[in-house]
Amino acid sequence: MKIDCINLRKVFNSRGEETTETTLFSRDKIGIGIAPSGASVGSKEAKLINLDEGIKNFNKIKNKFIGEFSQEEFDLLLMNNLEKIGSNLTTSLSFAFFNLERDKFVSKVSGEFPIPLGNVIGGGVHHGKTDIQEILLLPVKEKNIFDAIKTNFKIWNEIRERYKNKYLGLNDEGALAMNFKNEESLEKVSEIAKEYKVKIGIDLAASELFRRGKYVYKDKKISKEEQIDLISKWIKDYKLYFVEDPFEENDFFGFRELTKKFRNKCLICGDDLFATQVKRLNKELANSVIIKPNQVGTITGALNCIKKAKELKMVPVLSHRSGETCDSTISSLSLLTKIAKFGISQIRIAKLNELIRLWDLLEIMGKKPRMAKLNI
Ligand code: PEP
Ligand code: MG
Repeated sequence: MKIDCINLRKVFNSRGEETTETTLFSRDKIGIGIAPSGASVGSKEAKLINLDEGIKNFNKIKNKFIGEFSQEEFDLLLMNNLEKIGSNLTTSLSFAFFNLERDKFVSKVSGEFPIPLGNVIGGGVHHGKTDIQEILLLPVKEKNIFDAIKTNFKIWNEIRERYKNKYLGLNDEGALAMNFKNEESLEKVSEIAKEYKVKIGIDLAASELFRRGKYVYKDKKISKEEQIDLISKWIKDYKLYFVEDPFEENDFFGFRELTKKFRNKCLICGDDLFATQVKRLNKELANSVIIKPNQVGTITGALNCIKKAKELKMVPVLSHRSGETCDSTISSLSLLTKIAKFGISQIRIAKLNELIRLWDLLEIMGKKPRMAKLNI
């Protein structure tokens, strides 16, 4: 792909934070990419720097990025300049490059679609009442992407209606902020999920709860060992199928113990734990991994992590960030994974609608689109 011209600008994400949008021009084609931003940011993520400084530094070296490149070559050049330009810029540039060649990518996928993992009740640093950052729905029984998204929306609406007097508003990810404690939320969601034959999960984002060696909840402060017992109890009591970051990012003992206990029943998923870094993947610590391209800074980094996860028989889950935009690059990427964690409502619908669009496109291409099947 030959890059003729590069244009960068600052735009806003769903939280009103500034982020970068890149437009790449290649002959008669245009590729656009916008970087998302996290709130529960892991310490192992690719380096973020001040946006204005990054743009100023990029403009000094912009010419290096004009010319003929493959995605790998372009991304390598970005990573070689990560310290100077920061991961917000590398992500938007890498996304824009990917979007120039997106159709080529889509023409090579198998036609298996990820199950949409939707955030229905939220809290933690994304705002809301619960310590649990996200209570998640996984509609495993639906036969097509449209129905799977619809089921998540139905449950999201039904909880809001059924518990009207407990509804406090929507949080950063468009999840419901409800006047429920942790267990109450899990109870209500698991009740409705049973009616809809949907599996449920959580993202505890436990690094955000960890202070001076303890897991600190609104109503209790517990040790690392007690945290293992609490999560094990939640998995059993609420039949959790997906548990993301139940321990802080350096609590390897906790991850190892939980994975040993539940690897055949539940996806124990590492987000801050692995930070989409191939070198950090370890199947003893978790049997699933969150893939957030901006944690590693490029599309190539994310693709390498997906590939390695599959080799290790870990389930990769393509994920948005809490600060999002209408950019839907990760919808195409998610066609390589069995689960897509894109939320349910508000700006999240941009990526979900893109999946519906892709379903149609793959049908036209004769790829027989179908929903992924999970093995545990
Ligand atoms: C997450 O923790 O999975 C998440 C989406 O949150 P954030 O983008 O705030 O890190
Ligand atoms: Mg997470």
